[in-house]
Amino acid sequence: MLRLKSHLTKRVGYTIRCISSAPPVSPTNPESVCIIGSGPSGFYTLKYLLSHPSPPKIVDLVDSSRVPFGLIRTGVAPDHGDVKNAQSEFTQIIEGGNGSTGVRFLGGVAVGEGERVKLSDVEDHYDAVVLCHGASLSNELNLPAYKPDGSKVEAPPVVRPGFREVVERKGGEGLSITVIGGGNVSLDLARVFAKGRRGILGESEVRDEEIKEMAEWGVGTIGLYNRRGAYQTAFTTKEFRDIYKMAKAGKTALRVDLEDIERSSNKESLEEMEGNRPMTRLIKLITQVAEDDGVKKGEGTQISVKYLRSPSEIHTDEEGNMMSVRFELQELSGEKGAQRAVGTGVFEDVQTDVLVSSMGYKASPLDQRLPFEGGRYKHERGHVEGRVFAAGWCKRGPKGIVGTNITDARETVGRIYEGTETERGEVGGDFVDFLEKEGVEYSTWEGWQRVDEVERDEDRLREGQARNKIKDEDEIRRVAMGR
Ligand code: NAP
Repeated sequence: MLRLKSHLTKRVGYTIRCISSAPPVSPTNPESVCIIGSGPSGFYTLKYLLSHPSPPKIVDLVDSSRVPFGLIRTGVAPDHGDVKNAQSEFTQIIEGGNGSTGVRFLGGVAVGEGERVKLSDVEDHYDAVVLCHGASLSNELNLPAYKPDGSKVEAPPVVRPGFREVVERKGGEGLSITVIGGGNVSLDLARVFAKGRRGILGESEVRDEEIKEMAEWGVGTIGLYNRRGAYQTAFTTKEFRDIYKMAKAGKTALRVDLEDIERSSNKESLEEMEGNRPMTRLIKLITQVAEDDGVKKGEGTQISVKYLRSPSEIHTDEEGNMMSVRFELQELSGEKGAQRAVGTGVFEDVQTDVLVSSMGYKASPLDQRLPFEGGRYKHERGHVEGRVFAAGWCKRGPKGIVGTNITDARETVGRIYEGTETERGEVGGDFVDFLEKEGVEYSTWEGWQRVDEVERDEDRLREGQARNKIKDEDEIRRVAMGR
């Protein structure tokens, strides 16, 4: 990173163009770019801007949070240190820079319609704005709930996929959890609970008190429920293999029913698998698990993956507490690649203490004026409209692993340099001046470095642990602001 003192940047770093004296801006050679969102798509966008033969003079990385890295920090499971290593790569991108571009991290700056800083304010200050804000809304599960006498009752809370959320809902020995949705987030949850029960989270980012709690009561059973079949599985082979290995070592039990795989194997699904090597590998592994009686016998948390079941209602006790979830068995209907689950009229009840909804995410637009459809921006190779571009989940939908953002960001940066037919307005002044004028309390990369230093202080860490995150938002703010 070009070393700029954050508060002096606007005076020493780059040429500031003012509305009154702005030279014309070449649409194919942006001098200033703002990236909104500092998760993987934001950092890979930064990487390709910095490595372009004509890099911008200024790139600002704006985030509503005072800590960078988005889902790498907050979404990746706390025991997946290898995935979290992407933080080192991103640090190298921003701190290494390219020797000519001034890069700033502006944390604590929320952009949006209900916020003090609107998207139009950002657009006013840059040649190009790249939306990398991801998909922050969860797909919601709304089920009716009934008491034993059949009368309707307010549904007990459905929990988001997170340790804290589950614990706060209900603790207790042998807890049974039902998870709706069978993606990698659901697998993460199952694996962390299974490890917690066996006391093998020492090197993870899970906090001491949570490790203690998990060891004290432990999750008895956790079922991951997919409405469609095995060939439409959302989780990936690597993640499933992690749990399989644990089960092979007897540290958890893992069950997939062969009957579910057989019911999933219709003509269209088999055609879907043809030539799809990742899916072929995954089906092979799922079948291997289903046929391996040994992995069903492991001690600790009993994990099961179920297919072709869609939740229809919740049953409670007299007081309205969660008792069971009713599932309707499904069958697949529709053409290859577009199969839907349809009910069969056959139901089964599953006793459960906590119901978790883990059905993926969707984005919401930062400004209603932008073309937006199906939970993402409409775009042409990353170009949304005017000087606005997008990369990551808000561009392609909430799919893919961290590395998927590499090609995605590269495409968007390439598109920025192609220019647009839209007449560009003029660019007015330094965005940091604007923030100061508006009284927006932004933090800097140096602020994050202070937080990072505290979180990696040896005195806070268990043996083998890489980071012990600061929990309290006010504390993060205090440290980031150097108070
Ligand atoms: P996801 O992969 O989109 O999976 C969502 C699951 O919810 C699917 O099984 C989906 O089934 C189901 N679902 C959606 N709507 C439903 C409904 N109305 N009723 C019943 N089921 C429903 O979501 P995710 O697990 O939250 O993961 C998001 C992204 O992050 C994914 O790309 C994932 O790979 C990634 N991620 C990666 C890692 C890792 O690499 N370790 C870890 C965590 C997350 P249908 O297919 O039938 O819609």
